[in-house]
Amino acid sequence: MTQKQAETFEYQAEMKQLLHLIVHSLYTHPEVFLRELISNASDALNKVRYRQLTDQELLDKDKELAIRITLDAETKTFSIEDCGIGMTKDELITNIGTVARSGTLEFLQRLKEDQKDTGDLIGQFGVGFYSVFMVTDEVTVETRAADKDSQGYRWTSAGEGSYTVEEIDKPERGTRITFQLKDDHKDFAEPFMIKEVIKKYSNFADFPIYVGEDKVNTVEAIWRKSEKEVKDEERNEFYKFITNDYDDPLASTHLNIEGAGASFKALLFIPRRAPYDLMRTQQHKTLQLYTNKIMIMDDCKDLLPEYLQFLRGVVDTSDLPLNVSREVVQKTQAMAKIKTALTGKVLQWLKRMANKDTETFLQFYKTFGQLFKSGLNSDFANRDKLLELLRFETSTLKGGELTSFKDYVGRMKEDQKEIYYLTGDHRDHVERNPNLEYFRKHDLEVLLLIDPVDAFIIPGITEYDGKPVKAIDKDDLELPKAAGDDEKKDDKLSESLLGLFKDTLKDKVEDVKVSKRLVDSAVTLVTGKDGMDRQMERMMKMMGQDAPAGKRVMEVNIDHPVLKNLSRRYLANASDPMLKKCIVQLYESAQLMDGELPSRADYINRMMEIMEEATK
Ligand code: ADP
Repeated sequence: MTQKQAETFEYQAEMKQLLHLIVHSLYTHPEVFLRELISNASDALNKVRYRQLTDQELLDKDKELAIRITLDAETKTFSIEDCGIGMTKDELITNIGTVARSGTLEFLQRLKEDQKDTGDLIGQFGVGFYSVFMVTDEVTVETRAADKDSQGYRWTSAGEGSYTVEEIDKPERGTRITFQLKDDHKDFAEPFMIKEVIKKYSNFADFPIYVGEDKVNTVEAIWRKSEKEVKDEERNEFYKFITNDYDDPLASTHLNIEGAGASFKALLFIPRRAPYDLMRTQQHKTLQLYTNKIMIMDDCKDLLPEYLQFLRGVVDTSDLPLNVSREVVQKTQAMAKIKTALTGKVLQWLKRMANKDTETFLQFYKTFGQLFKSGLNSDFANRDKLLELLRFETSTLKGGELTSFKDYVGRMKEDQKEIYYLTGDHRDHVERNPNLEYFRKHDLEVLLLIDPVDAFIIPGITEYDGKPVKAIDKDDLELPKAAGDDEKKDDKLSESLLGLFKDTLKDKVEDVKVSKRLVDSAVTLVTGKDGMDRQMERMMKMMGQDAPAGKRVMEVNIDHPVLKNLSRRYLANASDPMLKKCIVQLYESAQLMDGELPSRADYINRMMEIMEEATK
């Protein structure tokens, strides 16, 4: 065959930036390059194994699926070869020559911000292949796709500027990557060193890895074993292998499900840390799907509902047909059944953890709670189970401590019929909310919902264990009778003063009422009984959505000295201009407390006028 001339391609600008960073900033874990190359080779082998099931016409169809590493310490040459799916010319150019994924640019930005955690980031953003430029100046990739009539290609690049692609004669399918190590990384041409790194990072690769003649790794499907048969250390190593995480997982479980419409084995992990874009589940990987030990998808989002997609690990089933496309696999009945069974098992696992290993559970909750809680708005079949797993701060526990609905109910006062909560964006802030005064005085516990996600889930939780769940800043709140021992008297005088309040604030509030819940503060604003939760309203505004700006009800504490003085003044002269001034000032103070004062200047000017009067 006549060889064509090599074509030269320029990298995109982002690509150049990325390569520059890899070469100059990522010294911390140079051995990562090996993990990345093995993982790519392993993916390519997985793909060809999957193709072979349905396509008898592939090249080299009887070849052992393996990864071979060849080293030459003298010439400092490193070479890794797989007989996987290979790449066509187009694939070479799109997969290896361009920054295809939006994640890569984010990666760049993050790197600039925080240079210490780069080892992890390489894995998270899949700039994998380029990590070779940490240890070499020039790389050659020779590849041939697995189809019978495919052509071989050689891709070479010295990193930062451009790369070339040319046709070559390559009799076998798959990919060979070759390079000469930089002087300060020449250790990687030593077999003992490479074997060490493979044991550390890639021991669980699905395919044998040979260094020279020696098979280095243990190829076994540890997810098919039972919990007892696998040592913790092995399990952790496996986790690190499939996730590229540097930390051990927070928790893990083996599942072996038979019957119930689905049969599968699974090994699941909860990572110790959340991906930095936890809520954007499309951006991060979840479970690998195997059928009878053959990987069919390395990131299968259909195995779990979105709110559980922080889990990592493997699900291996014999229920799925192999001879159809992945798209079809995802839509099968069998898949839906696996998802249902798996979801149930995961929730059971979390429940067990919450009861038996509370600390781990709370750590999980603090790390993944935001995503997890969103399940309440989507998984109605498992609602009751999810409710049991919710945790909140409360007014009677220290900041940071969490409680469940169940424990809250266990502590409820004998005559307390409702579960109370207050939403807000910060513990310090909610704690100073005047609406809490009554509850504090009467030692009634209030759940403090300070996670922004809480505001979205709480409207859907109207009761727990037969007890209504109520916001304490709502107008229609019924306070427990025994606690209402200091029923405020609503006398004639305060009624007519109240009339002046209503008159003065008529455009601003829905109503003005005598408060039963205030103890120390003079006034507070509460939500009308059909009004939207305050926190929810704020969140919607933050997200640029129209929140119907419901008017609030203002409650006044007629036992407060200011209110008493106002009453007296009102009695002396009902048209005293000071009265209205104070009423507006009281209203705006309550708004200020809620973090939504419309004009600071007006507020301060009015305060000055009042002070001037007071100091006259
Ligand atoms: P990632 O593996 O995260 O996708 P990489 O930069 O490591 O990112 O690889 C980019 C792409 O190049 C891979 O997704 C794959 O399509 C292709 N590729 C890399 N190595 C191989 C290989 N050994 N065989 C076939 N394709 C490969």
